[in-house]
Amino acid sequence: MYFNVSQLLKERSGSTRSYDVNDFASLREGAPMTPISGTVKMMRTDAGIWVSAQLETYFDCECSRCVREMEQFVRMEIEEEYLPEVDVTTGARLNFPDELADNFYIDQTHMLDMSEAIRQYFGLSMPFSPLCREECKGLCLTCGADLNDTDCSCDNVIRDPRWGALLAFASPQEPNYN
Ligand SMILES: [Zn+2]
Ligand SMILES: [Zn+2]
Repeated sequence: MYFNVSQLLKERSGSTRSYDVNDFASLREGAPMTPISGTVKMMRTDAGIWVSAQLETYFDCECSRCVREMEQFVRMEIEEEYLPEVDVTTGARLNFPDELADNFYIDQTHMLDMSEAIRQYFGLSMPFSPLCREECKGLCLTCGADLNDTDCSCDNVIRDPRWGALLAFASPQEPNYN
């Protein structure tokens, strides 16, 4: 997702732009382009351009319980300052202190590319265990039946014989307060 920011870079600090976006982005390294929409606000800062973006997308994945194909809704709120690699009027290369090396940069053609920020924020926003619905019952651990569709007759109470002895040993003694 690219924006030409040469005009904004020439404006004074505090100048803004706002964009409604309906675009495509690759959400992970090597992943196909996925529709992404929302708003992108930009503000000229002393050093560069502050980007505040609210973006939404749907991501194809599998339910972590029943492994059905599903679409996961993901919202990203991006807040990042982008720094120009070159001065927009003189073309001179700009040097920033080492601690800004991890910042995002605006390239020499004054294109602000949000692709990498989108990938990073997507990684942070994507749920670790996507669910096709909150109450998904998942698969039977024994026969693999989808418990959303059917009740199987397996007995899936988890038993570990080692606990039996321990529980007997640790059976609570009534405290005596007399
Ligand atoms: Zn599910
Ligand atoms: Zn079963």
